[in-house]
Amino acid sequence: MTPAPVETPVRVRFAPSPTGYLHVGGLRTALYNYLFARRYGGRFVLRIEDTDRTRFVEDAEADILECLSWAGLLPDEGPDRGGPCSPYRQSERQAMYLDRALALVASGHAYYAFDTPEALEALRGDDAATRYDASTRGGLRNSLALPETEWKALLHSGEPWVIRLRVDPSKTVTFEDLIRGTVTFSGDTIDDQVLVKSDGMPTYHLANVVDDHEMGITHVIRGEEWLPSTPKHMLLYDAFGWRPPRMAHLPLIMSPSGGKLSKRSADRLGIPVMVKDYRKVGYEPEALVNYLAFLGWNPGDDRELFDTDSLVQAFSLDRVGSSGVQFDMDKLAWFNQQHLKAMPASELGRRARPWLDASGLESEPSYVVAVADLMRERLLHAKDLAGEWRFFFEDPAEYEREGIEKRWKEDSAELVSAYADAIEACDPFDAESLEARLRELAESRGVGAGRLIHPVRLAVSGRIVGPGLFEMLALLGRQRCVARLRTAARSIPAPG
Ligand code: GLU
Repeated sequence: MTPAPVETPVRVRFAPSPTGYLHVGGLRTALYNYLFARRYGGRFVLRIEDTDRTRFVEDAEADILECLSWAGLLPDEGPDRGGPCSPYRQSERQAMYLDRALALVASGHAYYAFDTPEALEALRGDDAATRYDASTRGGLRNSLALPETEWKALLHSGEPWVIRLRVDPSKTVTFEDLIRGTVTFSGDTIDDQVLVKSDGMPTYHLANVVDDHEMGITHVIRGEEWLPSTPKHMLLYDAFGWRPPRMAHLPLIMSPSGGKLSKRSADRLGIPVMVKDYRKVGYEPEALVNYLAFLGWNPGDDRELFDTDSLVQAFSLDRVGSSGVQFDMDKLAWFNQQHLKAMPASELGRRARPWLDASGLESEPSYVVAVADLMRERLLHAKDLAGEWRFFFEDPAEYEREGIEKRWKEDSAELVSAYADAIEACDPFDAESLEARLRELAESRGVGAGRLIHPVRLAVSGRIVGPGLFEMLALLGRQRCVARLRTAARSIPAPG
């Protein structure tokens, strides 16, 4: 089946609520919106849905912006950069929602309700399935049930009120989800949702629908957890007489241990939840983006490594699946490694720099770049240069015990000192000459080269595995090598 052509111009939005820091699932939603917008030459809008003041977190918006910028998913319009639909924070658009809701009251699609919390409590009673809807609203205090003089008097008396949508139970809501196909809900399962709360603030449903309409959003791409809201939104579009955007609900992100990936299950499995934590532990944005692109989508062939531009070329909603996708840290680590491997050395050096600085390891930028280049095949994270491979920047503080036991023999101290003598005058100080000196020495002593190679590596790096020995020595340079060889010869005790 050939997928239906996408209507353009495309306008999509990422609409987070600033109730906490950006989650990795939120970043995936932002990414799919971004890719879709770029793929079809459209616009990617950031809208902050901050009408729920009770759950508002002060620095959440700043975190969202910072994470999007780190991931390279900059919006075309948003609170920080403005745009034709300003303002982009719902708290700054409040008056409009009330106007829209009042228009629905006037057209008979919505009504005032004056029920007290106790009355609502009593309505629910023991039966969780009891709703405020066509079957119950007649017995409650609202402008549909009460005589007009009475409810108008209530309204003027300053009695608290809300505005509810008048849902027609005989209506069936049907829409085509671009990922899930036809979705149908029956009106009699949907309550008369509140549109305006007693504090005058719109609910999520009202503000979301009004803004998607006002901002000319053509496609709503969001997580599956919002699917139950969509029929309510469809009823609202209908009441307003507006054409709804196309809907696409992304597959649920599952825990490797089964079930939805919750904060709890993620914590238990050592999966970071916040985007900023991925950054903090040292994942590269390219890797996280590449990984998240595959968390629900695939290109339909065996390509795996993508930068954002190539994702844009390959992306389509037709290749997004509807069933849950399991989070896989190993796969993310693999992407991280692959992206580091593919990076130009200068960039790799730039990525390592902050980690070196944070560890107080100082070095010439050109040296950092050369080390990064030599080590690229072995890096899981750029920060490994300041961790596992920090001997490039400071003398080893200790020698691997296992390495000593296995590799440091009776004659090691003497051989290592002799090698220090031999390379002191080695010119040029390059891998080739360093190797030639070592082999000459081994031969003159009548020992195999391994008898020198392993202790030399241990002496210089403190470890018994690493990159090619002679490249490593050449890069470390004469001074460091000679000094470290002599220190080890002095300080590593002979076996026995
Ligand atoms: N404000 C909702 C959220 O926090 C938006 C859901 C939607 O995209 O409609 O994710």
